[in-house]
Amino acid sequence: MLTAIAMFILINGLPAYMARRMARRKGRSEMFWFIAGIFGSWFVVGILALMRSSSTPTLAEYLAANPTCKTPTGIACKFCGSRSIRLWRDESGYAIHQRHFCNHCGELLYRSG
Ligand SMILES: [Zn+2]
Repeated sequence: MLTAIAMFILINGLPAYMARRMARRKGRSEMFWFIAGIFGSWFVVGILALMRSSSTPTLAEYLAANPTCKTPTGIACKFCGSRSIRLWRDESGYAIHQRHFCNHCGELLYRSG
């Protein structure tokens, strides 16, 4: 019985972990995709890889929604006000996307490309 549980974690733990990481980069619910990864294994990772992260706004949409974030010295984070923004190139799917995260609080802010 214990071996069966260990096997289940071994087979489903890694895809669940990967699904959680990919969900974060795509701006989707981490917990939902983590649980989906446990039960759906690599199949869920495949679905997530093909999925577009359309929920992330573009820079123009981000600034339109948060006009105070456009400062003379650059774009600011809408959550903490930090102007240190980190670029993350996402090549996990078939298309390459560029995501911009706040370097201070780690929130996904907008996408480009
Ligand atoms: Zn921030």
